[in-house]
Amino acid sequence: MINFEYARARGVADAVRLAAAAPGAKFIAGGTNLIDLMKEHVECPSRLIDISRLPLNRVEETPAGGLRIGTLVPNADLANHSLAAARYPLLASAISAGASAQLRNMVTTGSNLLQRTHCPCFYDTARPCNKREPGSGCSAIKGLNRMHAILGASDRRIATHSSDMSVALAALDALVHVAGPAGERTIPIAEFHRLPGDAPQRDTTLQPVEIVTAVELPARGFAAHCSYLKICDRLSYAFGLVTVAAALELDAGRIAEARLPLGGVAHKPWRDPAAEAALRGQPAQQAVIARAADLVL
Ligand SMILES: Cc1cc2nc3c(=O)[nH]c(=O)nc-3n(C[C@H](O)[C@H](O)[C@H](O)COP(=O)(O)OP(=O)(O)OC[C@H]3O[C@@H](n4cnc5c(N)ncnc54)[C@H](O)[C@@H]3O)c2cc1C
Repeated sequence: MINFEYARARGVADAVRLAAAAPGAKFIAGGTNLIDLMKEHVECPSRLIDISRLPLNRVEETPAGGLRIGTLVPNADLANHSLAAARYPLLASAISAGASAQLRNMVTTGSNLLQRTHCPCFYDTARPCNKREPGSGCSAIKGLNRMHAILGASDRRIATHSSDMSVALAALDALVHVAGPAGERTIPIAEFHRLPGDAPQRDTTLQPVEIVTAVELPARGFAAHCSYLKICDRLSYAFGLVTVAAALELDAGRIAEARLPLGGVAHKPWRDPAAEAALRGQPAQQAVIARAADLVL
């Protein structure tokens, strides 16, 4: 049994204040990841700050023609939201490829980005894990590592980031809005998740007391030509071995803009600028796309 305090935040500033006052505090939204980790003694927060009743559950149009999605919008609501589904079908299909219908009803937008790795060694407190306990070692590097990183890994960690939604957000150049003791700031999605490097315990560039308040999508949605492909061991309810959020903008048969982020193969959604650049200006033909795929791998 882990002892922890429970506090319900009355607003964003209150949530930040409650977090700053208790080192080791954690925000809780849907609880589908954090409660699992607490049961396994992987996460032992001193205080749980319940943010689930904050008024951050709206999807709003931005003046720039995009969407601002409150951090507490459930994944199921977002995937089925009329504007999101029409303008960002890539995002809707990536979300629908994740987890199960029950989980998607509980999981929220901000916390989906913050789910921890699903590496079995991270969950098994009997085994060394640099992500759980920095400096203890990585049992996965020489162990059973079929689900692990093939891109951007370090000698300290080969765990992958498992979020489907984040891969689509990488393709869409989303912005993550956060609030903390120093005020509000915006983090481009490409800079939100990080590679393990020499601090594998850190998944993101979010500071401990900062809270995600919203995710913003720019106007460009690649709605006409996009596809989210997820390869996994079962047809549903499984984490991706590899996923791709492919998105193209075509102009008279030529590729005007391209995105090819991969999921499940790195500690963050993996974008390769050289591969995307190799597509720009080219005819939308199989040989061109095969060359870009070769560049990624
Ligand atoms: C059986 C199972 C299968 C799954 N399959 C998939 C899958 O195929 N694809 C996929 O993408 N995901 C999958 N998931 C992961 C699921 O998407 C995560 O559990 C979920 O995203 C976590 O959301 P939550 O709201 O429950 O977060 P919580 O458990 O409440 O929180 C998760 C983390 O985010 C932090 N947090 C929450 N909200 C905020 C905030 N606003 N600001 C700062 N920190 C915050 C918490 O402190 C915690 O560290 C699966 C999960 C399970 C249990």
